[in-house]
Amino acid sequence: MSQRLHDLPEPPPANELGYAAYSGWACCWCGKSLLGMRGTVSAGISRGRQGAHVLDMEVYCCPDCAAARRR
Ligand SMILES: [Zn+2]
Repeated sequence: MSQRLHDLPEPPPANELGYAAYSGWACCWCGKSLLGMRGTVSAGISRGRQGAHVLDMEVYCCPDCAAARRR
């Protein structure tokens, strides 16, 4: 279960994320694999658009990045 933090900056846009981060398998900030990791948090919505197709997707980050970026 992930906890939602509202004090994190917006995640990178969808077109800058790799497939793993966009799919929620990797940290959207450092790219570390989140599979089996405890304490992952929602990083918010990564915004993106490809033509008429909206790519907005909730992405996740590792606890280290969440702690480093929490304001
Ligand atoms: Zn990270």
